[in-house]
Amino acid sequence: MVMDVYGLLGNPVGHSLSPPMHEAAYEELGIDARYVTFEPAPDAIEDAVRGADALGIAGLNVTIPFKQDVLSVVEPDSLAARIGAVNTIDLTGEQPTGHNTDAAGALRALRDHDVTVADATAVVVGAGGAGRAIAFGLADGGASVAIANRTTSTAHELADTVPGASGHSLDALDSLLTDADILVNATSVGMDEDATPVPADALHADLAVLDAVYRPLETRLLQDASAIGATTVDGAWMLLYQGVEAFERWTGRDAPVAVMNQALRDRL
Ligand code: NAP
Repeated sequence: MVMDVYGLLGNPVGHSLSPPMHEAAYEELGIDARYVTFEPAPDAIEDAVRGADALGIAGLNVTIPFKQDVLSVVEPDSLAARIGAVNTIDLTGEQPTGHNTDAAGALRALRDHDVTVADATAVVVGAGGAGRAIAFGLADGGASVAIANRTTSTAHELADTVPGASGHSLDALDSLLTDADILVNATSVGMDEDATPVPADALHADLAVLDAVYRPLETRLLQDASAIGATTVDGAWMLLYQGVEAFERWTGRDAPVAVMNQALRDRL
């Protein structure tokens, strides 16, 4: 194959921002590559990964609903295995390897905004795929993590696997946030709606608030946080840095972060 091909496995993937973000990076660095989207049927996901490998596709991102399913067909690294989800597959080796760049994406988004993670007290709202990755990322970065989720049992199950973490119901948010340094929304609340998973009066000016939701960029949560003087980090930063981490793993080159960021924000 002359050019390198990368892609995204998901269903649906029609509105994905990954193709323009990655292709902007290829163009900037003069890399002869394309990034394409694939929507395999749910029962064909393993064949899709093996077929991509056989065709010489170099790397794949993975999104809903396949992040757990692909674990059966890749060799996960230790972080992806602990999180229980893969969002990046490297197909250049002898066998497909699975990685999770959502964790590092969230951490880089925070650090990019001068937020210190080491020794911070962090509250993660949500315990789905994004919440799992972010909770492990924050704990590995040295934060003490509290996880609050609508389904409280899921928060407890996740907390049992994340080092030093505790699990809570959403009712505990008020008291958890009193002494917190970092708040992350990893629920889908606020996506395409004027709603927030955290009461505005539970926020304070010393918080750094990352919202994983990136449509809209200025969610109700970030508007509330901004209004009281908290540091805000929108979900496009996390989306950017999970893509940057995948790009750097696949190509072995430093990603042109500003160009990728612009390509994303032009479309949001
Ligand atoms: P998911 O696995 O389906 O998890 C959804 C989470 O949201 C669960 O914790 C769920 O709680 C909670 N939730 C849903 N509706 C709720 C409601 N009405 N009230 C309270 N909690 C509610 O989804 P995901 O993959 O983790 O994605 C979550 C969000 O993160 C999405 O908006 C996604 O777009 C975003 N995301 C962003 C990035 C990025 O790079 N910026 C990366 C990944 C995901 P229950 O357990 O009680 O159902």
